[in-house]
Amino acid sequence: MGKETGFLELDRRERDYLDPSERLKNYREFVVPPDDATLARQASRCMDCGIPYCHNGCPVNNLIPDWNHLVYENDWRNALDLLHSTNNFPEFTGRICPAPCEASCTLNIVDQPVTIKSIECAIVDRGWQEGWITPQLPQRKTGKSVAVIGSGPAGLAAAQQLARAGHSVTVFEKSDRVGGLLRYGIPDFKMEKHLINRRCVQMEAEGVTFRTNKEVGVDISFKTLDENFDAIVLAGGAEDARALAIPGAEMPGVRLAMEFLTQQNKRVAGDDEVRAAPRGSLLATGKDVVVIGGGDTGSDCVGTSNRQGAKSVTQLEIMPKPPEREDKALTWPDWPLKLRTSSSHEEGANRDWAVLTKRVVGDGEKVTGLECARVEWVNGEMREIVGSEFTIPADLILLAMGFTGPKKAGLLEQAAVELTDRGNVKADTDNYATNVPGVWACGDMRRGQSLVVWAIREGRQAARAVDEALMGASELPR
Ligand SMILES: Cc1cc2nc3c(=O)[nH]c(=O)nc-3n(C[C@H](O)[C@H](O)[C@H](O)COP(=O)(O)OP(=O)(O)OC[C@H]3O[C@@H](n4cnc5c(N)ncnc54)[C@H](O)[C@@H]3O)c2cc1C
Ligand code: SF4
Repeated sequence: MGKETGFLELDRRERDYLDPSERLKNYREFVVPPDDATLARQASRCMDCGIPYCHNGCPVNNLIPDWNHLVYENDWRNALDLLHSTNNFPEFTGRICPAPCEASCTLNIVDQPVTIKSIECAIVDRGWQEGWITPQLPQRKTGKSVAVIGSGPAGLAAAQQLARAGHSVTVFEKSDRVGGLLRYGIPDFKMEKHLINRRCVQMEAEGVTFRTNKEVGVDISFKTLDENFDAIVLAGGAEDARALAIPGAEMPGVRLAMEFLTQQNKRVAGDDEVRAAPRGSLLATGKDVVVIGGGDTGSDCVGTSNRQGAKSVTQLEIMPKPPEREDKALTWPDWPLKLRTSSSHEEGANRDWAVLTKRVVGDGEKVTGLECARVEWVNGEMREIVGSEFTIPADLILLAMGFTGPKKAGLLEQAAVELTDRGNVKADTDNYATNVPGVWACGDMRRGQSLVVWAIREGRQAARAVDEALMGASELPR
């Protein structure tokens, strides 16, 4: 424990952000990293609880009190080693994790959790700056080969672990660049993409081969992979977006959030091809934008629309507005349902809850509005409030209502893996094996739409299961 009285003497101090007027001018990250003295003070607030609930709150079980102590002691190098022992990519989670660890921190009982995520981010950023993060080559090669399908955080974590165990790993990715939703879902202002490139360089030096623009099931058959690799890991994400089944939704002004977000990330990357996108370039500039869906994806559409210069941005949610503050006695140390205001919301958005969308208004070509009605929720059942209809002006409607599971056509049909009732690939979290011998599954493809930190956990654990199956035993951590 850093300082016995730290939590009594010091308040929580979060990272500062650039002012919205500054950050809306571009797509760059806008967090102002705290200085070392501030970080040491914040780390000293950790109480090193007898039962560290944060360990459980964190899906990769980061050893949080231990690296808090090391940061307080100014021992950044050992803090980095400890952090990497549970998390392959802390620079991703340190930026975009919603930090369930902080919800389960004992100091959250009084709304003052340790700034775990900021400290995590600072440790790994320092590691890169100092040149401490280098390729970790395996001591011996096993002669076994593994194909990983999908290069999101689950596929990347699995690939890195398997390469470090000495296997020859090839990652197949249908997109033109590696990273999955880290690359083409999450906007640059939340996480800049050079961070992924840097990890790819490390992984290539560790022996991982990346084959982009290769969709398994289309450009290369599953059978070919099955014949040429000793093991296959399915890490293709949960890409099927939930559709909007209301009249008028087929008009060109109603678009999937992922189409919008991917185009912007490609623009930031300097790509020309957005102009040749199948349904044309998609911009919110000067438009009344309505985002349907109150989650992370919707929030990213808000931030992106504001950066593109939208005239107005409205975000709708069908569920009722959650409470501003949770009842700690009921929720702690679990993740509470409460109102969350993201940095994108702070930049400007009209938010509305318990709203049902009924009809897209327009002339068949051009969208002009969205007809809605208010609903009430009684015993978990939704009831439309009679006479509550209203219309919001809209030129562009972005659908961010979540994902129903992985795509079935192509890869999954060819692999003939069993699916769950919800349409995800069936595999348990003991060994991540599917019903098809030699085929494992992890990340969103197995668990459904989730979080980056869960994808990393599953990639790591699936890698251990594969290693064990190939070698009879594994030294990889679970
Ligand atoms: C807009 C948006 C914002 C989000 N924001 C956050 C956030 O702030 N914090 C957070 O923790 N989580 C966030 N999430 C969720 C998070 O991104 C996902 O849970 C995570 O990326 C899942 O990782 P994955 O590796 O399982 O799948 P993905 O990241 O989806 O990667 C799957 C990859 O597999 C590839 N693929 C699929 N099929 C094939 C095939 N047949 N052949 C070859 N390649 C294939 C895909 O192209 C993709 O690159 C967000 C999600 C979205 C959509
Ligand atoms: S990965 Fe997420 S939950 Fe785990 S310590 Fe980091 S911020 Fe917290």
